[in-house]
Amino acid sequence: MNTIDKPIAAQKRIALVAHDNRKQGLIDWCKQHRAILEQHQLLGTGTTGTQIEASTGMQVEKLFSGPMGGDQQLGAKICQGDVDILIFFWDPFEPMPHDPDVKALLRIAAVWNIPVACNASSADMMIHSALMSQSFAREVPDYQGYLASRTGDFAV
Ligand code: PGA
Repeated sequence: MNTIDKPIAAQKRIALVAHDNRKQGLIDWCKQHRAILEQHQLLGTGTTGTQIEASTGMQVEKLFSGPMGGDQQLGAKICQGDVDILIFFWDPFEPMPHDPDVKALLRIAAVWNIPVACNASSADMMIHSALMSQSFAREVPDYQGYLASRTGDFAV
């Protein structure tokens, strides 16, 4: 499959999501990396975003709460190219009822080739990457061209 350029700008739009048992972990991580996070735009699911704002004072664009569709709003934003990085502290000890939501969000992040961190170590390595302050040459598969080649005149 061919690829198309979808560069990620130097200033990133960083999505923050945590399940209930992981929210404090994500808040602590945000406090630790506040100086870097402040240079970017933050968004998150409703409760995660509200708690990060209250605990850190940083501004977070808040979507609906996860159970009310916030995860899916985030997925739509990833498709639309409005999210550059996903930091998703999902709870490995409570797979149900989150499993379908986790799978859907991780899947769409993989489709659009955005960087994803699901724990503090990965998020640490990501945030300390030199690419956090530079544009990044992301490529995504050319799904439209691929579909068109399979179906003639079909286009998405
Ligand atoms: P919340 O949603 O930030 O609104 O709690 C997170 C989730 O449950 O996926």
